Amino acid sequence: MNRAEGIRVLLVEDEAGDAHLVKMKLKQAQCARFDVTWAQSLIEAQQCLATLPFDVMLLDLSLPDSEGLATVHSARVMARGVPIVVLSGRGDTDFALSALEAGALDYMVKGDFGYDGLGRVVRYALLRTEMEARNNLLIAALEAAANGIVITDRETTVIWANSAFGRLTGYSPQEAVGSKPNELIKSGLQDKPFYEDMWANLMAGRHWRGELINKRKDGSLYHEELSIASVKNGAGEITHFIGIKEDITERKAMEAQLQKLASTDPLTGLFNRRVFLERLEQERAKVARLPHYVAVVLMLDLDFFKRVNDSYGHATGDEVLKTFANIVRNNSRAIDVPARLGGEEFAILLTGADKNDAMTMAERLRQQVAAILIDHKAGQVKITVSIGAAALSAGDINAEMVLHRADAALYEAKDRGRNQTYWASF
Ligand code: GH3
Ligand code: MG
Ligand code: MG
Repeated sequence: MNRAEGIRVLLVEDEAGDAHLVKMKLKQAQCARFDVTWAQSLIEAQQCLATLPFDVMLLDLSLPDSEGLATVHSARVMARGVPIVVLSGRGDTDFALSALEAGALDYMVKGDFGYDGLGRVVRYALLRTEMEARNNLLIAALEAAANGIVITDRETTVIWANSAFGRLTGYSPQEAVGSKPNELIKSGLQDKPFYEDMWANLMAGRHWRGELINKRKDGSLYHEELSIASVKNGAGEITHFIGIKEDITERKAMEAQLQKLASTDPLTGLFNRRVFLERLEQERAKVARLPHYVAVVLMLDLDFFKRVNDSYGHATGDEVLKTFANIVRNNSRAIDVPARLGGEEFAILLTGADKNDAMTMAERLRQQVAAILIDHKAGQVKITVSIGAAALSAGDINAEMVLHRADAALYEAKDRGRNQTYWASF
């Protein structure tokens, strides 16, 4: 409390002697300066409140126009935000509590003010009112935030959450209070080390920030960016945690979409040339590093594909490319890298595969391609594929050397009459 002028007190008291005593006590008070306005009835108090601002009301309960708790109720309505301290001759605690329940902030027994007691009660009432107003303001700010905000005790039991938390998780703040976030929204998709790292940071008094997948009340999953700060008491012990949550589901979907666009060929959905070359380079380095590690590149090129376009049109050509890509995909293992390098040129990087594995796979694929028939109004389209196969070698100093060998093998397969696989020997 830091005010240049005095604390403005509205004293509502019908007995002149009592009013004089209160004014005296406040004048003598050491803790603050008080400007007292005296009203002798509720009506008079109302007139004062309508014309002057007050910080606190001292209210006698027995007035000419009101009696007992009804006085508190009426004063509460007319005083609006001004705190009320009840003054009465009664020394009965039950009655005091009723007065507090009726809306009085504090209670004092007349004649029992003690040294500076009244002054301190008035000051305290004012301070408490200001703190409540400030508290309400901070809550309003937290409620206005777009991010979900949750406060827990040190056992992580929720003691407060804002409405954005409710919108994000599907649990209203009232539902969340008393539960732990991990009982409500844990999806089980983060592993143990994830939470261990989080707790290690928090217990060391550091902020923690991370991305995780959580589960809404309706069971749906969402991506969340979570920041957690710990709150400590004067002794340096953690008493609370504050979690700030942002829904990043859309951003994650967008990132995945961009990632897909950047790494795949739009027509066939296979990996693009860039990803293939990156993975080939990694695999080449692995072969150079590990003595017994093997890998093979297959280069695939459709035979006389120009004729397909010329006879059936470009759209049918595209259909053929998609059908061929599906065969490539279906014959690849999860650890392989099937790619469209461009045009009607495809490649598969077979990781951890030797010549035998690669030739078996290439032959199976070649035969499946030769067996397909694609319907067209001008007749059925048949295609064949030529395949060049080359093992990665410890002597390859870059990916181009491997590609060059596989390319040479492909041309050999074409030269030898197409619809066949040729293995490049060193
Ligand atoms: P070869 O047996 O020697 O490989 O003969 P080819 O006709 O397949 O070879 P060439 O390289 O002369 O022709 C490839 C054709 O592939 C030419 C081009 O129009 C066609 N092509 C390339 N990309 C696409 C595509 O995205 N869609 C379609 N429909 N055709 C494409
Ligand atoms: Mg009275
Ligand atoms: Mg071709």
